[in-house]
Amino acid sequence: MTAFVPRAAALLPELVALRRALHRDPEVGLDLPRTQRRVLDALDGLGLEITTGAASTSVTAVLHGARPGPTVLLRADMDALPLTEETGLEYASTSGAMHACGHDLHTAGLVGAARLLAGARDRLAGDVVLMFQPGEEGDDGAATMIAEGVLEASGSAPVAAYAAHVVPGPAGRFGTRRGTLMAGVADLRIELHGVGGHGSRPHDAIDPVVAIAELVTALQVMITRRFSVFDPVVITVTQLAASDAINVIPETASLGATVRTLSRAADERVRGEVARLATAVAAAHGCRAVVEFSADYPVLVNDDAEADWAHDVLAETFGVARSTIAPDPLMASEDFSRVLEAVPGAFVLLAASPADADPAAWNHSPRVRFDDAVVGDLAAALATLAARRLDRAAG
Ligand SMILES: [Zn+2]
Repeated sequence: MTAFVPRAAALLPELVALRRALHRDPEVGLDLPRTQRRVLDALDGLGLEITTGAASTSVTAVLHGARPGPTVLLRADMDALPLTEETGLEYASTSGAMHACGHDLHTAGLVGAARLLAGARDRLAGDVVLMFQPGEEGDDGAATMIAEGVLEASGSAPVAAYAAHVVPGPAGRFGTRRGTLMAGVADLRIELHGVGGHGSRPHDAIDPVVAIAELVTALQVMITRRFSVFDPVVITVTQLAASDAINVIPETASLGATVRTLSRAADERVRGEVARLATAVAAAHGCRAVVEFSADYPVLVNDDAEADWAHDVLAETFGVARSTIAPDPLMASEDFSRVLEAVPGAFVLLAASPADADPAAWNHSPRVRFDDAVVGDLAAALATLAARRLDRAAG
């Protein structure tokens, strides 16, 4: 199946062209009509069974192999971020949205895998479900597609699922690991209710601003005292809101934070600890706290055997120097975790920095750049994993 690598290299110019067209015209959230159109056009003529989403602009394409067999699922996310691009690239977006997480490469890579697998249909015993997913960046697009039946799209539940994500690092190097690869995430909002008043007379008011200021640092202290460093938790407060007027003590002050955990147990416990702390800090100042957790993605857990196997297949396909074991999980999050809760599989990272990249510009930076020279190998990697997994199932 290493034959996919040279064939992917031949496809590279058209995959790069697709990636750049997507990059120039990014769309955010669950509704990506122009992106969906490009994917449908690129898949046209490959003989795939295609359905599109109702609750989102997802695309599910089923490739039936020449002989019957099990199903393997491959997934790419397609959405961008609401961010003004500052890369200065010739094909940079100017719309105020940006493919700053590389989902444009993932989409082009999965289109490439579809082409490679369609060309190898005669050799395939089983089906491959290609899951083109909107709304990864906080909209739980994977859950939307699962609810609409992507895991039953071929008529049988997948025996394995794979996806890849570009990250900064030396271009072309793959990495995965057993067990937890990415964090679970929850959005946290805390509102403190006090009594507003004149800025000159704080003694007549109950000022929620001083209370929320104390809470921001108290949350950091709580993390270090209540959670083991070996089961880490990150809380980063990214939003603060209080009075609109400089001379008015507001009735309420609020914060927003992102919460990351590497285990279900820590995720469950952090909710209780945060509520207890917010209630107590608020009470110390005479305020009342309202705590709300939402929009959570579960921890992304690779199947041990699938991760080992994917690592071996990538080493065989691209050389041992290019298939690594990721030493640590990432505290970033991914809703492919939803698929991996239902299907054993592996999520794979693919380093894709150009040689002159700024190491400080990580995913989600307005300056991050990814080298689309890796897109051919991404396509070959996904196609190889699917084809080899079907071979393995056939014995
Ligand atoms: Zn991403």
